Amino acid sequence: MTTKFTDASRVRIDVHAHAFTPEFTRVLRKNVSRPLAIRSIWEWDESRFLGEMDRWGVTLQVLSLPQMYEYFDWGNRQPAVEMSQVANDEYAEICAKHPERFRMFASIPMMDPDQACKELERARRLPGFSGITLCTHIRERALDEPEFAPFFAYANASFLAMFLHPLERPLPKEWNVYRLDHLIGLPVDTTFALSRLALGGFFDKYPNLKIIAAHVGGAIPFLARRIERAFREGKSEYKPSHYFGQLFYDTAGPTDEAIVACVARMFGSEQIVFGTDYPFGLGQEGKQYTEHAVGVVQESGLSETDLAKIYGGNARQLLHIGQL
Ligand SMILES: [Zn+2]
Repeated sequence: MTTKFTDASRVRIDVHAHAFTPEFTRVLRKNVSRPLAIRSIWEWDESRFLGEMDRWGVTLQVLSLPQMYEYFDWGNRQPAVEMSQVANDEYAEICAKHPERFRMFASIPMMDPDQACKELERARRLPGFSGITLCTHIRERALDEPEFAPFFAYANASFLAMFLHPLERPLPKEWNVYRLDHLIGLPVDTTFALSRLALGGFFDKYPNLKIIAAHVGGAIPFLARRIERAFREGKSEYKPSHYFGQLFYDTAGPTDEAIVACVARMFGSEQIVFGTDYPFGLGQEGKQYTEHAVGVVQESGLSETDLAKIYGGNARQLLHIGQL
């Protein structure tokens, strides 16, 4: 049975949730020859997703596909287009069936900029569309490369919300111990990507994009002042912290309550949005990522007003979500 949440201060909107849907997973396996380690708990299962959301008081999830570009190949771009369409259509079906429980960030085939614009145009008319998801790089090509400029000009004109998710990139082989390439490599990737965009003038060019940085922005809150040292060598109008202060930081990580408080102090509680990374982390170390994300917000020491903003108010405003 699903729970109806009526208390506005307890509306929880999870902006960082993933699902491998059946047709997408089938097309993915068809197009990618290497073995894919997709765990069954990552696959879409309506009753399990709704059950877990109810268990942790999550009113609404905004679904997105993780690590999209890991599956694509510059030499063969067509599968990227097909996989994005299939994923967006399946997410739209879920959103149409449960408009009060699910929304989506559409996948975009950035490997083919023309098709990227076309898929955005198509996806924005689908049920549940709330913006797009992009990785921090497109198979190691930075988002501010000129080939992507037409897409971002179009996205900027549409005042899009853009959920920016890290993607592994090659690291020195000594990083490949204790899963540090993943645990540290991903937040480093986010930190690098956002710093490059800030210093390169990306945010001056596309000021209307509303960017959600996954995993509390990697190390951005800690390194913001240090990154400013590069301002003179950069091409941006303002110092990086100016742009960092306009990003939205989700609470997935897993992170710590002190970090949530730190981001609130650095950039303001209106820049933090609740995110869990569900269904990742299920069953690991006996503590779910969702439970952890709820806890770090709750224990952050921030006021009830701030908590209400972080759990749902900020996302509601950002993604134009009405009463739930
Ligand atoms: Zn994620």
